[in-house]
Amino acid sequence: MLEAFSEGNEMKVTLEGLTKYFGRVVGAEDLNLEIGDGEFVALLGPSGCGKTTTLLMIAGIYKPTRGYVYFDDRIVNDLPPKDRNVGMVFQSYALYPHMTAFDNISFPLRLKKVPKEEIKRRVQKVADMLGIGELMDRKPAQLSGGQQQRVAVARALVKEPDLLLFDEPLSNLDAKLRLRMRGELKRLQMELGITTIYVTHDQVEAMTMADRIAVLNAGRLQAYGTPDQLYDHPETMFVAGFIGAPPMNFISMNFEERDGAFYLRRGSLELRLPDELGRLAKSNGAHGEVIMGIRPEDIFIAGEGDVRAEVYVIEPLGREDLVTFHLDGERVRVLAPAPFRGKIGEVMSLSYNKDKIHLFDPETERSLLKEE
Ligand code: ATP
Repeated sequence: MLEAFSEGNEMKVTLEGLTKYFGRVVGAEDLNLEIGDGEFVALLGPSGCGKTTTLLMIAGIYKPTRGYVYFDDRIVNDLPPKDRNVGMVFQSYALYPHMTAFDNISFPLRLKKVPKEEIKRRVQKVADMLGIGELMDRKPAQLSGGQQQRVAVARALVKEPDLLLFDEPLSNLDAKLRLRMRGELKRLQMELGITTIYVTHDQVEAMTMADRIAVLNAGRLQAYGTPDQLYDHPETMFVAGFIGAPPMNFISMNFEERDGAFYLRRGSLELRLPDELGRLAKSNGAHGEVIMGIRPEDIFIAGEGDVRAEVYVIEPLGREDLVTFHLDGERVRVLAPAPFRGKIGEVMSLSYNKDKIHLFDPETERSLLKEE
């Protein structure tokens, strides 16, 4: 079923110093990125960070102000979009309302004047693969959101593209369907092995689907790595705070060294750091004020904890409760096994998983735990 896609359509994409200005507005600036053959890369970042601009430069719809897009070893800056053999799926699906699903899917092949019989065969093949083979006579208005989405994906696949570009393709679906399509798209991409670039502002989508995530902010690349690398070893506070839900807690602390041991202190609160972590932070220039980062799942409510804090609010999530504590003027979120037994206003002890502490420089907001 999938053989037609399995040969000769893999492609590496390289962005080199890729920049786009809209007048004085920065769309994307100096992006350097390599997307391997068959890899699934998510472009992740908040609204306006330049994800769509980058995708449209790769598609050839926007011309870069500076820099290059390579497909394998070839610079494609001047290659028109229609000659790039790229399949695109947008948030809006962009289906033609007056055409049937069959006509929508076959549209790119008809443009290329592919013979009728071959069109029929290829459309049926992708439609069956996506489970919409029975819906070919319907117009978009007669299809559910999920079915329309599949038609849009089928239209992108029918060309047997070298590269798939997705721009927030699941945003218009309800939560349950989004979850299902997420898994299906991931599975499909794995089976087809087509190099894929997927724009999303949803960090869960990026984490669950992508081989690697490129985090963008204000047009610039903040980090590029596997979901695990970005989650476990974020290099900047932006990445640390953007990836993970509920987000990482940040608390301003004082970094101190006494008798060869390392401590974080804030008022009466003092934490001894694991020696290795302390040494690494010191070698990266930690002194005086630092920002401690700790994820809500790395704090525990314990009989004899490291600190005492007051329960501020309790938010049940089903499997766990999200409990926000007041700690010396800061709010600290903790994921506690449900049901959480404490009450609002109660003072409880918290302990930290100290191996999971992150430290950041308050000026540069860069990690102080980067290994050389
Ligand atoms: P979103 O998630 O909201 O779609 P995004 O990360 O895709 O955001 P882009 O659409 O790439 O962001 O926009 C990046 C920046 O470039 C924004 O400041 C935006 O206002 C600006 N921009 C995008 N397209 C244009 C345009 N055609 N003309 C002028 N400015 C633009």
